[in-house]
Amino acid sequence: MQLAKRLDRISEPQTILMAKLGRELKAKGVQVIDLSLGEPDFKTPQHIIDAADRAMEEGYTKYPPIAGFPELRQAIVTKLQRDNHLEYTPEQIIVSTGAKQVLANAILSIVNPGDEAIIPTPFWVTYASLVSLAEGKNVFVPCGIEDHFKITPAKLEAAITKRTRLFIFSSPCNPSGAVYSKEELKALAGVFEKYPDIVIISDEIYEYINYVGKHESIAQFEAIKDRVVLVNGFSKGFAMTGWRLGYMAGPVELVKACDKLQSQFTSGANSIAERAAITALLADLTPSFDMVKAFKERKEFIIPALQAIDGVRISDPEGAFYAFPDISSFYGKSNGAAVVNNADDMAMYLLNTAHVIGVSGAAFGDEHCIRFSFAASMETLQEGVRRLKEALDALH
Ligand code: PLP
Repeated sequence: MQLAKRLDRISEPQTILMAKLGRELKAKGVQVIDLSLGEPDFKTPQHIIDAADRAMEEGYTKYPPIAGFPELRQAIVTKLQRDNHLEYTPEQIIVSTGAKQVLANAILSIVNPGDEAIIPTPFWVTYASLVSLAEGKNVFVPCGIEDHFKITPAKLEAAITKRTRLFIFSSPCNPSGAVYSKEELKALAGVFEKYPDIVIISDEIYEYINYVGKHESIAQFEAIKDRVVLVNGFSKGFAMTGWRLGYMAGPVELVKACDKLQSQFTSGANSIAERAAITALLADLTPSFDMVKAFKERKEFIIPALQAIDGVRISDPEGAFYAFPDISSFYGKSNGAAVVNNADDMAMYLLNTAHVIGVSGAAFGDEHCIRFSFAASMETLQEGVRRLKEALDALH
């Protein structure tokens, strides 16, 4: 069967591919340490599950409004005031099938063929694929370990051209764990002030998973707020990946455009998940912060443990749940059987020899690094690090 050419512009995310290879190894009876996927290893808090049960009993089993139930859009407005001191109206909010669909809606609504999107690297895999699908051009700005994986105002300004339509970033960042401070965001906002045609997509899905204090959003800067598309969701902070629910806060025209797309793609998000999400946002957040405490303990184990391996350089993540070590000092080395020449080779070497599954940094636009999720039990992480050390020490 001949498929549409647009499919050639994208590929399956490496994250999903590596998880698939891991499952295949497991099926063969191999004891795999899977650190590939970005998913909390906790169950959704019970009060949210109970709210979904109630929603079904109360008859919320029919099509929801395309942009989401008004009570949920209002709950999001309340959350943005409470947590972020940001003022929005419900008309500026749209709920979609995961933050991933929010991003797809937004990018397809903004980017015309040939438009440029600036994406600091490393970046979350999906951004670039969606820009390509919209026939836009990705302009990657390398921000390595020396920059703590963050873009500077000078680098941003140097990348801007007449065709720049979009800037996309996440803070806390997947994969690097970098968190932008208020001052850093203010400096970037200062650059955007000079370029009124650029829309800023700020992916804040790891907001609650922050180890350094308060989350800061670039939407707080009034001069650019009407061009900021704030993306957030329920997958990470509430351990609700399978519920598929995310949201956007942004300009009304864009919300309307996304509503139009969504009305043809999905007819809105899942009604039961939406009702439960109202409870998630408005109830006590202690279960979320308990998860964050567990992530922090694991981070405090895995980062020094990886750093202690000869040849590994690592930046301490300030948010999210990923270790993103620079393993480029091993390139060109071999264990006698396999040669590791790049990050893809390293991911496959570790999979084949240590049965530890990470994701090549190349998938995130950084050829020097590899990503390991630490959303896994302490025992899994301890065994993972032991195997990693053995496999890396074997490279000469
Ligand atoms: N944005 C970032 C930075 C992510 O890491 C992910 C999931 O891995 C998403 C968005 C997608 O989230 P959702 O599950 O809500 O689609």
